[in-house]
Amino acid sequence: MKSFNNTNEFLSFRNEMKFSSLGLVPTMGNLHQGHLNLVKSALEDNEKVIVTIFVNPKQFGPNEDFDKYPRTLEQDMEKLKSLKNSERIILLCPEEPKQIFPESYSTEIEVQGLDETLCGKNRPGHFKGVCTVVYRLFLLTKPTKAYFGQKDYQQFKIIKKMRDDLLIPIDLEMIPIAREDSGLALSSRNQYLSKEQRSDALLLNRSLNLIAETTHQNLTSGIAKAQEILTQDSRFQYLEVLDSENLKLPTSESNKVVVAGAFLLGDTRLIDNVILKLKD
Ligand code: AMP
Repeated sequence: MKSFNNTNEFLSFRNEMKFSSLGLVPTMGNLHQGHLNLVKSALEDNEKVIVTIFVNPKQFGPNEDFDKYPRTLEQDMEKLKSLKNSERIILLCPEEPKQIFPESYSTEIEVQGLDETLCGKNRPGHFKGVCTVVYRLFLLTKPTKAYFGQKDYQQFKIIKKMRDDLLIPIDLEMIPIAREDSGLALSSRNQYLSKEQRSDALLLNRSLNLIAETTHQNLTSGIAKAQEILTQDSRFQYLEVLDSENLKLPTSESNKVVVAGAFLLGDTRLIDNVILKLKD
């Protein structure tokens, strides 16, 4: 595995690179099996794979966890090196935000519409920060295909819309959510949880599954179930059943829905979702 913490050195290398296909896996580090599944898929599909580790300040709100976000570069590098075919990985891990956003940087990218619900509604500016960094990482790395996780389902839909609107010639793939045996979706933020919070956190995935089962039988009952659980437990920030394509209320035309939730445990915010096919 080759690694670069300097963007200019990375760019010189990238400009000389020869490959038939190049995958990109953008991350904020503190890698777990969910991230590694993205890298493994990218290694299966592509000759070379660029993994980026960058805690992007633009996607954190003023009262969010940017400062305390876990930065574990050494362990992350060991995990990447332990993967089969790791010699085909190129790691870009700029230490300073200014390596990606120089002081003079002033352009932001906003995809309108899809950000009006779920996390977009609750984290103003978050997806603008995500799109801005992902676009910049696309231009820096120039991959043929990029990989994202279903765990951030709304993020994937928004990035896909940005790709389509801006005619970005990069294939995108969404990789399923990696979970603990308990059902808890893997997340770098799980380590903030106390033992008790960890067991409470299981309620998120259990509620999503219950809503999905109810929705499978009857869409209106599923939507009502989500509303019922949301009003009963104030720790849910949102709990919604939405058309998986436009992230609006599903109609009789909807083929698939996403059952998505955000759960607050102290200062820790967990998200998860389940995708459900309504029609064959
Ligand atoms: P992050 O480092 O949290 O920005 O995540 C980097 C990428 O890994 C994003 O595309 C996430 O959706 C994806 N990811 C994070 N957690 C999981 C998970 N449990 N399962 C699948 N993908 C994940």
